[in-house]
Amino acid sequence: EFKNQASIVVFGASGDLAKKKTYPALFGLFCHGELPATVKIIGFARSKMTEEEYKKRISEHFKISENDTQGQEFKTKFLELCSYISAPYDSDEGYVELEKQIDDFDAHHSHDKTQRLFYLALPPSAFITVAKQLKKNVHPREKGHAKLIVEKPFGHDLKSARELQASLAPLWSEDELYRIDHYLGKEMVKNLLVMRFGNEILGAAWNKNHIRSIQITFKEPFGTEGRGGYFDDIGMIRDVIQNHLLQVLTLLTMERPVSNDPEAVRDEKVKVLKAFDTDISLDDDVLLGQYTRSADGTKPAYLDDETVKAGSKCVTYAAIGMQIHNERWEGVPIVLRAGKALDEGKVEIRIQFKQVAKGLFTDVNRNELVMRIQPNEAVYMKLNNKTPGLSLATTTSELDLTYANRYSKDFWIPEAYESLIRDCLLGNHANFVRDDELEISWKLFTPLLEKIEAADGPTPFLYPYGSRGPLEGPEFMKKHGYVKSESNYQWPLTRPS
Ligand code: NAP
Ligand code: NAP
Repeated sequence: EFKNQASIVVFGASGDLAKKKTYPALFGLFCHGELPATVKIIGFARSKMTEEEYKKRISEHFKISENDTQGQEFKTKFLELCSYISAPYDSDEGYVELEKQIDDFDAHHSHDKTQRLFYLALPPSAFITVAKQLKKNVHPREKGHAKLIVEKPFGHDLKSARELQASLAPLWSEDELYRIDHYLGKEMVKNLLVMRFGNEILGAAWNKNHIRSIQITFKEPFGTEGRGGYFDDIGMIRDVIQNHLLQVLTLLTMERPVSNDPEAVRDEKVKVLKAFDTDISLDDDVLLGQYTRSADGTKPAYLDDETVKAGSKCVTYAAIGMQIHNERWEGVPIVLRAGKALDEGKVEIRIQFKQVAKGLFTDVNRNELVMRIQPNEAVYMKLNNKTPGLSLATTTSELDLTYANRYSKDFWIPEAYESLIRDCLLGNHANFVRDDELEISWKLFTPLLEKIEAADGPTPFLYPYGSRGPLEGPEFMKKHGYVKSESNYQWPLTRPS
């Protein structure tokens, strides 16, 4: 009913997220014909900007070059759809104007019903004010559909997450709410469902009988770079692990959903979350780190960031060992780890399988299945193979599915935000976080965060900027079931044509 029409309103249109992600995603969808046929896009923020300044700002990150004439045409057409309202968030006037503009748009296009998508690209302190004002002044009620997209952070801990939810719930139904965790919009994360449940061969091995360990790794090659003040109260666990990596883990470990209904998927995610062990031991299951100056002295320590509190024990690296108590996963060690200022930038899932029986071979490595979420999406399976030629020795090689080689010419792989805004327009909640998922994710991590952030909490291990993290890392991984292959494995940098 609403596929062909929508009014999209971006709150905080003057901000960083709007400029870097929300508008480029809307533009990307427009270029691929994935926005509704009649659409209006309204920016809303307090900053005073002329229409021209607003349009210049929101198009700064559009991916088109000067000489891409088709791209430039798309840009001109897209910007014709965009307008801007400058008004305070906490009084009626801007919202009354907004209601009028949307009504005029619907009347002009003879829409019987209205569809309104409100995107809150705002700091959480402004969420509730705007959600209340929208409900009061711009909610369509029986005139059509309303959707509210909210961005992380959804709270700082269990208590604040509950408070936020308790304020939102009376105003906006769960059906109208879309909580973005942009990892759920990433191509490889969306692929997990197909990989696991569309391949008998993987489905059969996906359990404690065959899998020895699971690791989900997030590595960033840069530090806080002057934004440490913001990061200092958050730390790596809240920033990446409690939300993004945990979401990936639920999709990796949940049971098969009974159908492709979005709620069937979210039901299974919640079920597996309930089976996670909440008793994460600070001594045995957690490795914490903070980066210091790089070995060559050219890159600063976290504490050199002037916006960071002196002597801060903020965690810029964390590895957390987890357990799931159910029939499928009992005893399989899982590690979620994330770090800033490391040797490379990547996000990957690594499943290590059990060692084959001894006797016939003495030198084979464990199989590994790696799903690289970013950069350069790839799935590869490390397999043992006879070394080609006269030798009878074994070599670890790979079955490789690198997206750029296999798919890139034929497919548009949408950015996470493009994919999620499209899902929202279609009313598909599967890749958004439900209230009960959020509650359990905070229940899981809040006790640990309290222990870490207590006055007598642990001091993180130091690691140099640009290194692989704390020196204790490999030992920690070993303790949690991961054996780095002795390895004769080499990934060829160049391949014969
Ligand atoms: P931002 O630039 O700091 O804020 C967005 C806009 O909100 C600002 O331009 C400002 O607009 C308004 N604003 C700022 N402080 C405010 C306050 N105290 N009260 C009311 N309005 C205020 O934030 P952002 O980086 O775009 O992030 C927006 C949301 O997305 C946040 O919840 C953030 O955690 C989340 N997020 C951001 C990113 C990112 O890459 N930036 C990534 C993931 C999630 P006016 O002054 O013009 O009204
Ligand atoms: P890898 O990146 O070498 O790492 C495998 C695991 O061993 C990771 O958990 C890693 O931890 C750990 N590790 C690495 N160096 C270590 C060290 N010195 N001490 C202890 N632990 C260490 O992975 P790989 O799968 O064997 O791949 C090797 C290379 O080939 C990678 O660069 C990979 O990108 C490339 N490759 C690419 C493709 C493709 O593009 N399709 C396919 C196959 C292989 P950390 O993450 O903490 O370093």
